[in-house]
Amino acid sequence: MRQRRTFVVLLLVTTGCAAADGSPPPRSGPAPKTVASSLTKEPRVTLPIVQTGAPVLRLRAATVPAERIKTHEMQELFAKMIETMRAAPGVGLAAPQIGVSLRVIVLEDRPELMTKLDELEIRERERVPFGPRIFVNPVLRPIGEAKATFFEGCLSVSGFVGLVERAAEVEVSGLDENGAPQTWRVRGWPARILQHEVDHVDGTLYVDRMITRSFATADQARALYAGKPIADVKRAFDLP
Ligand code: ZN
Repeated sequence: MRQRRTFVVLLLVTTGCAAADGSPPPRSGPAPKTVASSLTKEPRVTLPIVQTGAPVLRLRAATVPAERIKTHEMQELFAKMIETMRAAPGVGLAAPQIGVSLRVIVLEDRPELMTKLDELEIRERERVPFGPRIFVNPVLRPIGEAKATFFEGCLSVSGFVGLVERAAEVEVSGLDENGAPQTWRVRGWPARILQHEVDHVDGTLYVDRMITRSFATADQARALYAGKPIADVKRAFDLP
């Protein structure tokens, strides 16, 4: 019980968001009317994820006026995006993927999503768990010259993956779910998720950036390359 409470509080401190397991936040003081309250008071609704081919995935999404962020409509959008991402399950989601052409992204990575990766894969990817984050009007800048190449998939290109080279480290700035400015400098897998999601609000999909000869079904990639060092995977596709 004590551990559970610590977990919930940590998540709340990080993002003002509901607990990952969907349990209500501790009842101390009036709950702010934010993502947490909409997630816990209303029935869970997950939305269908738009698949590639839909024009909304190819638009440059609209900037959200700062004064709209605290509206019920936007708080609902944030909550539904997080629920939909978790249900998929995925580690990130952009508003256009649920048919809303706004510059909003959510991301979260949880230990239970990493159980199929071995130690080497987790280390190579610099994959670390982090609580839910919401960025409104994100602006991204790569830090340094280092790059990393790994398989990447997308909930909107269901069933496929491809190798994509991304900046190893980035800094993202934007507004949080309360309209406050926030900046996050991060490397490894969270940096990849950020680049993927910010691409979405610009109408770009990973298939536009992937090394095309590496395009594979997710099943094939899992069967042939799971647990292999990235150097071996690249060699299999005759890549340097
Ligand atoms: Zn995607």
